[in-house]
Amino acid sequence: MTLFVAEEAPAGVPFLDLRAVNNAHRASLDEVWRRVVADGHFVGGPSVEAFEAEFAHYCRAGHAIGVGNGTDALELILVGLGVGPGDEVVVPANTFVATVEAVCAAGARPRFVDVRPDTLLVDVAAVEAAVGPRTAAVVAVHLFGQMAQMDLLRELTTRHGIALIEDAAQAHGAEFDGERAGSAADAAAFSFYPGKNLGALGDAGAVVTDDPDLARRIRSIADHGRSPSDRHRHDHRGRNSRMDALQAALLSVKLSDLDRANACRVAAMERYRALLPEGVEPVEVLPRARSVHHLAVMQIDDRESVTRRLDAAGVGWGVHYPVPCHRQPAFVEFAGAPLPVAEAAARRILSLPMSPCLTERQIAYVCSVLAEE
Ligand SMILES: *Cc1c(COP(=O)(O)O)cnc(C)c1O
Repeated sequence: MTLFVAEEAPAGVPFLDLRAVNNAHRASLDEVWRRVVADGHFVGGPSVEAFEAEFAHYCRAGHAIGVGNGTDALELILVGLGVGPGDEVVVPANTFVATVEAVCAAGARPRFVDVRPDTLLVDVAAVEAAVGPRTAAVVAVHLFGQMAQMDLLRELTTRHGIALIEDAAQAHGAEFDGERAGSAADAAAFSFYPGKNLGALGDAGAVVTDDPDLARRIRSIADHGRSPSDRHRHDHRGRNSRMDALQAALLSVKLSDLDRANACRVAAMERYRALLPEGVEPVEVLPRARSVHHLAVMQIDDRESVTRRLDAAGVGWGVHYPVPCHRQPAFVEFAGAPLPVAEAAARRILSLPMSPCLTERQIAYVCSVLAEE
């Protein structure tokens, strides 16, 4: 009897069980660790070059440059494109603060715009209205695993002669209109933070682009501005943001399994859709988009009482993000006009457990807790 109850009602469901995610690859990851320690290349080198080639191919782009993290990847793209002081960069208000930090770190001003109420991704009409004489670039953030409307954004940025950048930190493998994240703009930034769809065992990131000159420039800037042919000549005022060999080799193992892991997330989301009670509305995915469901984001009323029930039942949850970036103290000077959709959504969104290891039973348990009155 006790056993039966335990099976029907799991002790709880973690928001994201990274041990389970990585244990699926435990033998290969252990082998990689031994190989890299023995090999002696720890920053850059053959493991990084191999991962860069594999990841560029996966994104259907010409070049990938391994860097320190996703925030650096965004900043390096902006600097590599020549965006800096005096320039404005259009960003959606509903994103992780890193998108905005990168714009500020490059010396440019973020210009916040509102999002669509259905997908919570950037509203293309709002971008159009925000573009002015100082606008140098638009950052399209593929939030929660779904790509922004890249065809419309590319048409817009081409018409205005400004750059288009993808923040693809939550969208490894996502597609829109058959185009893959990483190959739909001038350049894309990826994060391999452990909890992302493709996660390292530490910090790592990548810049992906089809433009060979931009790739060369960014590779140099991220390596102290070094000349590719003479490591003691510094062509650019650079910095240090390079990928570790260990992270690269671990990422190669996990990249080979990314499509399967993403398919598990898609299946988990379908299960949620089938079992969610009324009043819990998943953020929409547009018909032309193939989301990789980095997060399972719902819109609900009365979030506080729902999260109290989830807490009592041991179900992990999150809010991505409770305060839109234009309302963060760090960015008040750039706040501008109210952005009603992002502000209203911030009060109604709730992220439920999501990972490639989530089981049907766990999803059923989460939905039964949500259905309680
Ligand atoms: C994670 C994330 C980043 C930053 O990546 P780090 O590797 O943590 O620096 C940027 N943008 C978005 C949307 C993210 O989710």
